[in-house]
Amino acid sequence: MNKETYKIALDGPSGSGKSTLAKNLAKHYGFVYIDTGALYRTIGLFVSERGIASDDVQGIISVLPEIKIEMKLENGGGVVYLGGKRIGDEIRTPLISKYASDVSKLPEVRAFLLETQRSIARENNVIMDGRDIGTVILPDAQVKMFVVASSEARAKRRYAELCEKGVETTYEEVLADMKWRDANDSGREIAPAVPAPDAIMFDNSGLSVEDTVTEAMKIIDGIIKK
Ligand code: C5P
Repeated sequence: MNKETYKIALDGPSGSGKSTLAKNLAKHYGFVYIDTGALYRTIGLFVSERGIASDDVQGIISVLPEIKIEMKLENGGGVVYLGGKRIGDEIRTPLISKYASDVSKLPEVRAFLLETQRSIARENNVIMDGRDIGTVILPDAQVKMFVVASSEARAKRRYAELCEKGVETTYEEVLADMKWRDANDSGREIAPAVPAPDAIMFDNSGLSVEDTVTEAMKIIDGIIKK
């Protein structure tokens, strides 16, 4: 029997600060943090390592049955394993970002990852960040927020993040990559990155991380206490 679990869906474009916000909220509320982008990135990594082009639809679909992907819970968050190997920052490069955005357009890939995401939310109180959590994965989430920020603010953050991780890139490259991914992710036919009709729009362009977390908590507490 399924127990009643609490679900918070955080959707929005890349670099909007969703993951930092989600991690902070997960800690505060004691919920499990799930970064669903890591799943698409891991499929992208697998495909790229096989030497398959990111737009080779048949090539991608044909290797899906070979992909053994798991999300295990470690220290309050989901960690992706591919063929038993723990996946880390190797999925954070610009090349894998592009692969992730391309493979995620395929209905076969989205269907392949659906149950992995839903099963975690059935068993745990979760904060899930992604693009279609409020619309497709957890349409019954009690809280849905769509996080947005200007593309410049997002590129600045993502660039700082990548520098910290030692990934070699430039601000211009990150901004261009972000604009390309925005168009690719929001213009696609299946599960486009658009807010659910009942999502709360949350713009954090001018807000510090701390203020973003405080404002989001006010919104969530207002819903939980109703
Ligand atoms: O969130 P992140 O930037 O890591 O996601 C990488 C890519 O995976 C996105 O650009 C998007 O194309 C895809 N994605 C998706 N649906 C999700 C999460 C990510 O299509 N729920």
